[in-house]
Amino acid sequence: MNNPLLTDELLPRFNHIRIEHMEPAIDQILSENRMKIQSLATQEDPAWHTLAVPMQGLDEHLNNAWSVISHLNGVANSDELRKIYKKCLDRITEYSTELSQNEQLCEAYKKLAARDDFKDLDQAQQKAIENTLRDFRLGGVDLPAEKKARYAELKMELADLSNSFSDNVLDATEHWYRHLTDAKDLAGVPESALAGARQAAQQRNLDGYVITLDFPSFYPVMTYCDNRDLRREVYEAFVTRASDQGPDAGTWDNTPLMAEILKRRHALAQLLGFDNYAERSLATKMARSGEEVMSFLNELAKKAKPVAEKEVDELRAFARDEHGIEDLEAWDIGYYSEKLSQKLYDISAETLRPWFPVDRVVPGLFKVTERLFEVQIEQEPDAETWHQDVTAYRISRNGEPIAYFYLDPFARQGKRGGAWMADCRVRWRNLRGTVQLPVAFLNCNFTPPVDGQPSLLTHDEVTTLFHEFGHGLHHMLTQVDVADVSGINGVAWDAVELPSQFLENWCWHPDSLAIIAAHHETGEPLPQDMLDKLLAAKNFQAGMQMVRQLEFSLFDFRLHTEFTGAAPTNPLDVHRQVRDEIAVIKTPEFNRFPNSFSHIFSGGYAAGYYSYKWAEVLAADAFSAFEENGIFDAETGRSFRKNILEKGGSREPMELFKAFRGREPKVDALLRQTGITAAA
Ligand SMILES: [Zn+2]
Repeated sequence: MNNPLLTDELLPRFNHIRIEHMEPAIDQILSENRMKIQSLATQEDPAWHTLAVPMQGLDEHLNNAWSVISHLNGVANSDELRKIYKKCLDRITEYSTELSQNEQLCEAYKKLAARDDFKDLDQAQQKAIENTLRDFRLGGVDLPAEKKARYAELKMELADLSNSFSDNVLDATEHWYRHLTDAKDLAGVPESALAGARQAAQQRNLDGYVITLDFPSFYPVMTYCDNRDLRREVYEAFVTRASDQGPDAGTWDNTPLMAEILKRRHALAQLLGFDNYAERSLATKMARSGEEVMSFLNELAKKAKPVAEKEVDELRAFARDEHGIEDLEAWDIGYYSEKLSQKLYDISAETLRPWFPVDRVVPGLFKVTERLFEVQIEQEPDAETWHQDVTAYRISRNGEPIAYFYLDPFARQGKRGGAWMADCRVRWRNLRGTVQLPVAFLNCNFTPPVDGQPSLLTHDEVTTLFHEFGHGLHHMLTQVDVADVSGINGVAWDAVELPSQFLENWCWHPDSLAIIAAHHETGEPLPQDMLDKLLAAKNFQAGMQMVRQLEFSLFDFRLHTEFTGAAPTNPLDVHRQVRDEIAVIKTPEFNRFPNSFSHIFSGGYAAGYYSYKWAEVLAADAFSAFEENGIFDAETGRSFRKNILEKGGSREPMELFKAFRGREPKVDALLRQTGITAAA
């Protein structure tokens, strides 16, 4: 049997990998791993080299096959692949659950941690063992039998409840639509959205147009549609989804599910010895306490609210003076904000495209990276890929390869939407001392070149590319040899967006724009007036946006802190209290935002929504060091690389941040960079 998914080559042989290799590879790895884990877990005297290193080997052997399969499922999807993927996924989920509840394995790790020579292990090795024990503990492996059963029961119930929550949101979103026969009712909506609305009508065998609650349909109506009654109708349908209000009142009401979910999360946290679920969430995060999160959010709110109020006043005055609107309502905000932005900045995403051809932006990104982090990036011509548009690259320092990556830039059939970075290979050192170098997949969905026209990017797309490449550098520039904490592995959730948001800054600075932007026909740099408009528009309504994100974060965190079994807290009440304190736009009584807040009720963001803002603060504060010293300052770049990028998850993120910045993070830089406070 010559299965290319079983060979652990650094660069997978994509030309040779077939769908029929996938299931046998996963089955073989899982059964071999199970056998080997059994003997590793029951050894007499487990040590780093006899337990932790071989376990990493088993993990990486699985990861090396699975990363390729899940990647192909994302970029070269087919019905056949989807079926196989689902089968493999189920088996891997079963295997991971088994592993997390393996008491013998947990005991073996405890013995390892209790050894006299534990203190002689390096920081990464110690951190990896500590993380493993923490995750065993959070998985309930230490609980007495009866509580363990209760833990498993709660987990199962929570999975079902969260699933039903998101099904309700999905059903409510899909059920509602508005049929329109007269194009006049949609005046103002751009042609691309109208085409979507015609298509949605055809799919329902209707004439004219159909508006749905899916983002690509909903958003253009709220932003561009002149018809105020229609905006109100669509708004109401959207904000009452899965609730006791609105056009489908009571049909998919999530109110009872929210209470059941909160009750079980609280019980789960208490089983593990935490006061509440917010504490449980923080056990794996950079933030050290609930008080720290709350004072962080409140500090931002105090600064942002006055600015947001001013912005709303400005918007209100604009709507009144230029459009005769006396009572600005929730369904007017997006619409008049767009009009105001057009008036102030006169810039659209489309007008900038000619200066951002992909074959200028990508080499520009590489040049920026080379200057900042002392590496060389070159094509790796011999690598096999899954599509002709994909290019493989090698990153070297002083002529020595340190990582590889694949860039898959364009949208096509069978590739999922959005942009993302995923690991293909993780850096780690095996028992023989051989290092496996890190390899990354970078995926975007840019418009491909057509009829000799090059692919031209919007500035948003350029920013997205830099964002994902920031994640990629975190994965690829790591110097950690322990797989569990190398690259992005083991990095706390609220710190993982630091390198990505950090690198976005190089899309906004004149010195780096000179490297990444040039007109695709004339080669001219971005004209000064365009650059000025781009920078001015960047912080439009920054206060309002900040306050809105803070509302979500505070609601989520307070809810998971204040809920107790004895006095069940109503999410709607908490949401109203938070809004009373910080919101600057009044919302109608029928608004039921919590009922469709899937991030926290069915996603992974419970008591963790604050992470978005937290990481933004870290990124802005890290970048401010470059503002002080120059955005290409060699010393600052080296320090960021050595203290953050190379260290991955091998130390606490707060320690790493302090090593780079010389102090704990402050919110000042974010407030200044978004224009919320004036520059000093
Ligand atoms: Zn990201």
